[in-house]
Amino acid sequence: LYLFYLTGPISMLVEGATQLQTGLAAVTRLRQVEELEVESLTPGEPAAPGGTAPAALTFTDVRFHYTKDRSPALDGVSFEVPAGSMTALVGPSGAGKSTMFALLERFYEPDAGSITLDGRELRDIPLPGLRAALGYVEQDTPVLAGSLRENLLFGAPEVTEDEVAAVIARTQLTDLVNRLPEGLETQVGHRGQMLSGGERQRVAIARALLRRPRVLLLDEATSQLDAVNELRLREVIEEVAATTTVLVIAHRLSTVTSARQIVVLEAGRVRAVGSHAELVAADDLYRELATTQFVASGEAMAGNAG
Ligand code: ADP
Ligand code: MG
Repeated sequence: LYLFYLTGPISMLVEGATQLQTGLAAVTRLRQVEELEVESLTPGEPAAPGGTAPAALTFTDVRFHYTKDRSPALDGVSFEVPAGSMTALVGPSGAGKSTMFALLERFYEPDAGSITLDGRELRDIPLPGLRAALGYVEQDTPVLAGSLRENLLFGAPEVTEDEVAAVIARTQLTDLVNRLPEGLETQVGHRGQMLSGGERQRVAIARALLRRPRVLLLDEATSQLDAVNELRLREVIEEVAATTTVLVIAHRLSTVTSARQIVVLEAGRVRAVGSHAELVAADDLYRELATTQFVASGEAMAGNAG
């Protein structure tokens, strides 16, 4: 089941260099996963422990380095992600944000420390169950060749038409479906020109939601959005966070201001945790990120709309 999930995107027709790179990265991950799989699968356990209720995550003194000759990517990281709310990760490039997602998905194992999902050590959860519990929305998710329906249902368990309709409404894709000549059956993958950047992000979120994750891991795309798409994305993330745990690598001002808590990472360490207002008042790195790194829709209105 999990092999299908991981190899599927590679076998589907993808277009362009970015998609190819994503495919190659997936092959690398697949190899790592296969190696882990041998020692970590516990037969006879249910695929998705805990059903679909939102789950809490904890990181306790997590250490990890990719290669021995380099400084650690994570150097004693501790924080909690409460169930059923939004936590945003921010920090300069190279701070370790993507590495935390890679450890959650168990593309790699920590050198030391503990990561739990609802109090259970990740390494004690069979990979298929873990992967089913985590909905992972990559940065700049490729649009796959095929219809919009195929893009939405890919990797999903059996879902009803009602569920598809509800998720389309929740992710504000109704306009798109109505606009496309053949609705959900329209082929959208051809160079992705049928979808705007904002729509692609929401399609990726909808695809993840249809798998009924207990935690949504969202690596926010950095592409700029026009004001309407910016607002829609904010509303969609807030709506999802009302019923699902959301951990987002945030690049948008609108996302950090919506988050229950923000974790500021720097050089593999947690530097500060707080709300946007608290961090603006208390942390100079955060203040700097807020003015230089976060994308706000005002900039996008100058052109380059999403
Ligand atoms: P962020 O997502 O915050 O930009 P990353 O988690 O991608 O940071 O990277 C953290 C550190 O780990 C950086 O020093 C980066 O160069 C290094 N790193 C990331 N991925 C790899 C990898 N696959 N192999 C070796 N080093 C890596
Ligand atoms: Mg990253």
